[in-house]
Amino acid sequence: MTPTQILAFIREKEVKAVDFRFMDFPGLWQHFTIPADALTEDVFEEGWSFDSSSIRGWRRINESDMLVQPVSETAFLDPFARETTLVLICNILDPSEKRDYERDPRNVARKAVNYMRATGVADSISVAPELEFFVFDDIRFDQTPHSAYYYLESVEGTWNTGRDERPNLGYKLRYGEGYSPCPPSDALHDLRTEMMLLMEQCGIKINGHHHEVATAGQCEIDLLPDELVKMADNVLKYKYIVKNVARKHQKTATFMPKPIYGEAGSGMPIQFSLWKDGKNLFAGNHPYAGLSDLAMYAMGGLLRHAPALSAITNPTTNSYKRLIPNSEAPVNLAYSRRNRTAAIRIPVYSPNARAKRIEFRLPDGSCNPYLAFAAMVMAALDGIKNKISPGQPFDKDIYDLESEELARVPKTPMTLEEALVNLQKDHEFLLQGDVFTPDVIDTWIWYKREKEADALRLRPHPYEFALYFDI
Ligand code: GLU
Ligand code: MG
Repeated sequence: MTPTQILAFIREKEVKAVDFRFMDFPGLWQHFTIPADALTEDVFEEGWSFDSSSIRGWRRINESDMLVQPVSETAFLDPFARETTLVLICNILDPSEKRDYERDPRNVARKAVNYMRATGVADSISVAPELEFFVFDDIRFDQTPHSAYYYLESVEGTWNTGRDERPNLGYKLRYGEGYSPCPPSDALHDLRTEMMLLMEQCGIKINGHHHEVATAGQCEIDLLPDELVKMADNVLKYKYIVKNVARKHQKTATFMPKPIYGEAGSGMPIQFSLWKDGKNLFAGNHPYAGLSDLAMYAMGGLLRHAPALSAITNPTTNSYKRLIPNSEAPVNLAYSRRNRTAAIRIPVYSPNARAKRIEFRLPDGSCNPYLAFAAMVMAALDGIKNKISPGQPFDKDIYDLESEELARVPKTPMTLEEALVNLQKDHEFLLQGDVFTPDVIDTWIWYKREKEADALRLRPHPYEFALYFDI
């Protein structure tokens, strides 16, 4: 919709309120609301002033006024607000020079797409993330100790090990067998369908939904591919809908990568392909998986920069608890047609050349999707520009590999701190075309180290009490 159409829509549908949404620096959707009749065509041009001093990672108090600039094509009706409310996703403007604010993640994503076009390599990118999440009973509604025990058992490592099952809550699915049985075993089927239908209503195209491998309520709703910035917007809508439908049913949803010790974690593998003049540039004749040389180089760039990239695609201390062997999570910095422990998988089933794509398996749902998608495309473009070879495929099953052979395959970082050190050393590829500025990189590393990695490192952990209290 254009601004004029939006104003007509507001009158026609008797919209009462307009909700401005924007992304903070680490990756949590923010909002504030104005009366619908305060929205004019001018606001789409000039923006609307707000105090950004409390937004994480942004301006300090003495320079706090910023402008949100709503993007008319992003409009959708909020399915949860009691009064009819139109949501508009916004860019952030710096009022002093009336230009895009460099730490606005959406701005970084837009610049990545512009840079990709400017290189002449591709004119569009098709992105489809697969977001996984857990649904738990919400302790705020459910006063039984059920929900708290997920955490305690996770901390103590007794989850489903048969050692200590307190309290006995009755029948439970057999461990590791919750993936595909029909209801009533799949108790979250209706919840996911409700989420899926609301997503479609809000303009997201859906491939399907299913329970995921972890026994305790892990879910996945798959999105059909779309253009990069739009898809990052969609990820935020997706999370908003998942969390609010869960809440409506007195449950709570989390995209935390590893909420339960001993169960599979939640990832956000991203399938993507680059396009030019309506042609998929990843389709080709390379003997391995029918990819093009360009796709091979894109994989080379992703693999070379993965240790640094992970500071953005896996940006929480919890992210690295997911990246472990034997949990379908990637640990090997290699590519493969079938091995899910490889950082890049090439989906075997591509009905035609248009569907050729690669799946970058590293990212998880704790990332800021604007920054993660932007960093991913920058690494791929760097591989293409410098013709970086991705090496040999990693097709053997991990159990068949000799231990020395396996040890030679580079691995994902073990901690957020390790990833941040890698990003500090390797971020030239992100600075190309001014997509990520040095200020964005420095602020990211500072924020993630001080507020998260160090904040956790300096605190006694509950599991340390289990290990050491009686020492
Ligand atoms: N849950 C797995 C992960 O943490 C992914 C499972 C899948 O391949 O869908 O990456
Ligand atoms: Mg999955």
